[in-house]
Amino acid sequence: MPRCIAPSCTSGYDTNNEKVHFFHVPKDENLMKLWHSAIKRKNFNINPKQSICDKHFRPTDILWNRTIYDKQGNVR
Ligand SMILES: [Zn+2]
Repeated sequence: MPRCIAPSCTSGYDTNNEKVHFFHVPKDENLMKLWHSAIKRKNFNINPKQSICDKHFRPTDILWNRTIYDKQGNVR
């Protein structure tokens, strides 16, 4: 399980059994910089292999999107 990189967040750590969703740090450089400034960790090397849990997003900022296909492979 990934571990959240937000300061003092324990999501994903062995001591925390809470179920949360994780979002990978974006690969896009500009977005990555925005995320880096948002988590407010100095001297921290952020990279797309890291994740942040859903506690640090507003519910309205998350697009829960699932595409459903029929047997012919058409989007329903
Ligand atoms: Zn977190």
